[in-house]
Amino acid sequence: MEMTSKKKVAFYTLGCKVNQYDTHAMMEEFRDKGYEIVDFDEYANVYIVNTCTVTNLSDRKSRQMLRRAHRKNPDAIIGAVGCYAQRGAQELLAIPGIKLILGNRDRHNIAEYIERIEKTGVPINGVSDIMKERTFEETPISSYSERTRAVIKVQEGCNQFCTYCIIPYARGPIRSRDPNNILDEVKRLVEVGYKEIVFTGIHVTSYGKDIGDIDLIGLIELIHNIDGLERIRLGSLEPTYIDERFIDIFSTLPKMCPHFHISLQSGSDKTLKRMGRRYTADEYRKIVENLRKVSEDVSVTTDVMVGFPGETDEEFNETYQFVEDVAFSKIHVFQYSPREGTPAARFKAQVPSQIKAARSDKLIELGTRLEQEFMDKFIGTEEKVLFEQLIPGSSNIYEGYTENYIKVAAESSHDIQNEIISVVLERMEDDILLGKIR
Ligand code: SF4
Repeated sequence: MEMTSKKKVAFYTLGCKVNQYDTHAMMEEFRDKGYEIVDFDEYANVYIVNTCTVTNLSDRKSRQMLRRAHRKNPDAIIGAVGCYAQRGAQELLAIPGIKLILGNRDRHNIAEYIERIEKTGVPINGVSDIMKERTFEETPISSYSERTRAVIKVQEGCNQFCTYCIIPYARGPIRSRDPNNILDEVKRLVEVGYKEIVFTGIHVTSYGKDIGDIDLIGLIELIHNIDGLERIRLGSLEPTYIDERFIDIFSTLPKMCPHFHISLQSGSDKTLKRMGRRYTADEYRKIVENLRKVSEDVSVTTDVMVGFPGETDEEFNETYQFVEDVAFSKIHVFQYSPREGTPAARFKAQVPSQIKAARSDKLIELGTRLEQEFMDKFIGTEEKVLFEQLIPGSSNIYEGYTENYIKVAAESSHDIQNEIISVVLERMEDDILLGKIR
């Protein structure tokens, strides 16, 4: 057994960008207390699993990682935080070695909780009723594992209650972060060299609804003129928020990247209605058309769910045709999985898994074709690329992304990580465009 002076803490994070951000914030809490952050596979005194509960599989994976930590060091203090911990505290407390359960609040005190357990040996269940939360828990970060792009959490919670989704029950109602704290964090990250930031949240398009006087596009205007900030990207967006005002302002903000991930879920109005989504396929189509009017090269990516209860062949074909017509540049396909505690889990006409799988395969195939057709349009053009890293195993080929989020690789005799450089795009290889630095 390794005996060193500094206590070691290891993290494992499941789920979304918001969970990644929450983990970074908790890491800073431990670093401030003198802990050393080690990999999850290493020996540690404390293990924290930031759990996810979006599907049954994420619950199972969370439990697996908690058990793996206990096997790694049976004497370690193990903590479960995040969405599954928020909803399944009693289940998790039954797992050997678990001494701390913290849901989706109070994570800024996590190091104190661990120290209290070290002293008393008494497990702590710090989960409270998340539906009562009204203020955003400020957990600022000053650095990020990635070197070029910093993901910034600006919002928490969701009030939409889509019929298939468990998230509102795990994250609680919408809470927006103080815009001045966001401004300070962006300035801090730009000062240490970040050129690109991504605003994320559980329902980021709800930003400001609870605090008034500002909304998401207003927040972008607030940070747009920070010197040294080159690119602003957004996490997943709700179609209903992308109205005329949003598009007008977007067209005047050159640092706002022409890449929007706008969650669709289905292209059939009947399915959308049963999902509790608040737009029609036609309204969605118009939003994309309006975006393309102000930005010809805009990339629109999306999420589509297949096999939602009651989805007929006809409804699926509507979705397929819709996706093809809109010509997304990338689609993420999900098979519906019933989530206990959501209305849709009790809906009749659950779709058999082999039909879900067949529909998913068909849509993924379409998505691959559309993605290549989109990338193909840019061969022969010159694009600005923010280079992120040397391609693993290469000594002089670097990869990065264009403003509209196309992955590009190019050769350079010197280190161009975190530089924005013009590249002439020459040919496609799998999901990447190869180019020459101008
Ligand atoms: S918008 Fe719908 S799918 Fe997204 S987090 Fe909220 S309830 Fe879930």
